[in-house]
Amino acid sequence: MVYDFHTHTSYSDGKLSPMELARWASDRGYRALGLTDHVGVGALHELMSRLKADRDVIERHWPLHVVVGGGADTSPT
Ligand SMILES: [Zn+2]
Repeated sequence: MVYDFHTHTSYSDGKLSPMELARWASDRGYRALGLTDHVGVGALHELMSRLKADRDVIERHWPLHVVVGGGADTSPT
């Protein structure tokens, strides 16, 4: 089983949108995919909402199991 549980999409510093990444992964035989972007603390809730909506669309259209997660970028003060 091919999978990657740590990816970045165009929501942070990745090049592909979640849909493009799903197509890329499915074409290469992946069966599970983690969408795990990094954003500022204040944007984490919005990110998770977007990724969950994308997960629902992806799982309807590709034979992929999608796990969503988010990393909050912080910097020391
Ligand atoms: Zn990461």
